[in-house]
Amino acid sequence: MKRVLPNGEARFAFVSVVIMKMLGLLGGMSWESSIEYERAINTIVRERLGGTASADLLIRSFNFADIEELQETGRWDEAGRTLAAAAKNLVAGGAEAIVICTNTMHMLADQIQTEISVPLIHIADVTAHAVRDANVSEVALLGTRYTMEHDFYAGRLRDRFGLTVIVPDEPDRTRVHDIIYEELVRGVVTEQSRSEYLDIIARCVDRGAKGVIAGCTEVELLIQEHDVSVPYFPTARLHAMAAADFMLG
Ligand code: GLU
Repeated sequence: MKRVLPNGEARFAFVSVVIMKMLGLLGGMSWESSIEYERAINTIVRERLGGTASADLLIRSFNFADIEELQETGRWDEAGRTLAAAAKNLVAGGAEAIVICTNTMHMLADQIQTEISVPLIHIADVTAHAVRDANVSEVALLGTRYTMEHDFYAGRLRDRFGLTVIVPDEPDRTRVHDIIYEELVRGVVTEQSRSEYLDIIARCVDRGAKGVIAGCTEVELLIQEHDVSVPYFPTARLHAMAAADFMLG
């Protein structure tokens, strides 16, 4: 391609054309973190492709009140069917991979994956690779009660990646969970909760954690890397980066 500058000089550019893949996001769980996914993915696409390039996305954003109700009443099968149906719709709309923008709902990842013909980019796998790349093998996991107490997340980190996972003891676990549901998913970020989280992280470090997974996509709205003295793994950010890598090949 030839472009003539205002001063008459000719410039020749060899344009490499990237054909971006379209990605389907299951979001709204909560939207406070989903919008950060959208921002991060779009930012990476613009940085890599330049100009006005932005991410080719299909987004299904749920009403989180409905999702929370399914969680609280233990209706995980129904939640799985709901998310799988939405994922299938995104694939029918052209999505070439699916990203579930929450750690907790990865409890249903296997069920969803069996229903779709495209890859599901698993948040725990992306996170585990980052933990291993940082040479950390004992890692604290802070997330919802579902993520900390069921085995779908810690078990995957342990069995597939050989990591030792430390979850907070009670009453810290309840506090971590409550701050997510009573504050962070409602857009409330306070110094009081930040300091409570940092105390809880310090107790996990005392128990041997050499790194910390923000295993809930809203936790990184409260705690950032510079707040913590050990390597910190913000799952939404890592997941969004993996999603952008997939889109750009
Ligand atoms: N976004 C949160 C997570 O990453 C919690 C909300 C939810 O239950 O999905 O686990």
